[in-house]
Amino acid sequence: MNLIEKISSYEICKCEQIAHVYKDSSITYGELIEKSDAIASYIIDQFGDDKTPIVVYGHKEHEMLICFLACVKAGHAYIPIDTSFPYERVRDIVDSSQTNMIFNVGEFDYKFSDVNVKNYNQIKEILLQYQLHKPDKKYFVGKEDTFYIIYTSGSTGKPKGVQITLSCLESFINWAAKVCSLRDDFNYVFMNQAPFSFDLSVMDLYLSLWSGSTLFSIDKSMTSNLKLLFESFSSSNINIWVSTPSFAEMCLGDSSFNEELLPKLETFLFCGETLTNSCAERLLEKFSKSKVINMYGPTEATVAVTSIEVTEEVAKEICPLPVGKVKEDCRIIIVDEDGNEVSEGERGEIIIIGDSVSIGYYNNNERTEKSFSKKFINGTEKRCYKTGDEGYLKHGLLYYSGRIDFQIKLNGYRIELEDIENNLRNIEFINNCVVIPAIKEDKIQYLNAVVVLNRSPWEKEFKIAMLIKNELKKFIPDYMIPRKITIVESLPMTINGKVNRKALMEETK
Ligand code: AMP
Repeated sequence: MNLIEKISSYEICKCEQIAHVYKDSSITYGELIEKSDAIASYIIDQFGDDKTPIVVYGHKEHEMLICFLACVKAGHAYIPIDTSFPYERVRDIVDSSQTNMIFNVGEFDYKFSDVNVKNYNQIKEILLQYQLHKPDKKYFVGKEDTFYIIYTSGSTGKPKGVQITLSCLESFINWAAKVCSLRDDFNYVFMNQAPFSFDLSVMDLYLSLWSGSTLFSIDKSMTSNLKLLFESFSSSNINIWVSTPSFAEMCLGDSSFNEELLPKLETFLFCGETLTNSCAERLLEKFSKSKVINMYGPTEATVAVTSIEVTEEVAKEICPLPVGKVKEDCRIIIVDEDGNEVSEGERGEIIIIGDSVSIGYYNNNERTEKSFSKKFINGTEKRCYKTGDEGYLKHGLLYYSGRIDFQIKLNGYRIELEDIENNLRNIEFINNCVVIPAIKEDKIQYLNAVVVLNRSPWEKEFKIAMLIKNELKKFIPDYMIPRKITIVESLPMTINGKVNRKALMEETK
């Protein structure tokens, strides 16, 4: 049974089980399957064998899940777009995907003269008109067909559409279910923090649907209001937490974030950003019954390809934390600038090879050729992705050391900004930090370390700054010491829950 068939089977055996909770509303598996079948039947009537991808625009509404499933049951890949995307971004995606249909769940009022836009009320009408219709299984997305396309930001300023096939997704889900030791006979509640346009959400969405569990979606208004967020947690029964580390850091800022608030929590799953030792330690202290798992991967390799359980011992003894061991059907190699594999422990670019790797960027051969290639592994041709991430392998574990493109030159010296950040995080009173270059007339003038403290060793900021610089001097050469230290309450985050470096650069200009 493939993923789509497995989810569809819950219409019978889990008909009354809650599939999705959003705000004060919920939807059962019975409703989810029936409604997605109705919309899939409509799509098939409209397009038949034409399999152009379909845009689904909205935030966390039930109709988002309904439309995702409807698209793949009708054989179309879906493109999730969150309501936080501005018009120009939506336009770019619509243009580059050449889609001819948008399910407008989030009700934008932009005009797309060349595309069939179905607004919320029209979706409701389709549901009525096609009620109890069942799509023929022959239309379902097949193993090697694209299941979804997630658009990520591109260095050119135009987003790139990463195509993920059903077999990539199944490979990820089968592995991730083992990583978090999902039990067959248990109905979990998964927390969904990331918007559906960000591939971290694939982790909670499909682990939840695959296991016939409940997805508990957090609205974007709650992510900036801890009081509202914690109120919603109290009745959530969340078992599995999926978020970026920054989101957990933000919650840790409030002392009421502990086991009492989430008594049923079993596992924290993190991906997308560096998980610091301090964050892991604080979580393990406050949630003594829960596991903390760190995962690593880019959208181009289907959410994540490595994992490690960060136990108290790991958090105390290994700094920085590893991102873990690679999944069985993938390999990771580290290469130097000429593409040659480096020896164990040496840093280089992380290359991911195997079944999780995307088939490339949609309608973008040029970018696909730059980042994707093929390699023979044990006589079988496998897809490879050049991540642009720097890292190293040690005792079978992958360590992430930063982006290759965060490398800068200051007064002729080559510096990795994340190298400084990792050293700053080793200072015991620093919680989190970002180092940003201060640029004037296209030239880096100096570095500014923006830091969040977990306690203040001195009252006066200049004294703290001196102390930080003196501590740093123990670990890195003088030319790497940031000239400016800015102390802030918290770091701004992007809608995807990552630290918003761009905003910080603007603010501190
Ligand atoms: P995205 O495609 O948005 O998921 O971003 C992928 C990028 O996030 C990777 O290429 C890494 O640079 C970063 N990343 C993902 N997981 C981790 C992790 N566990 N630790 C540090 N950085 C990570």
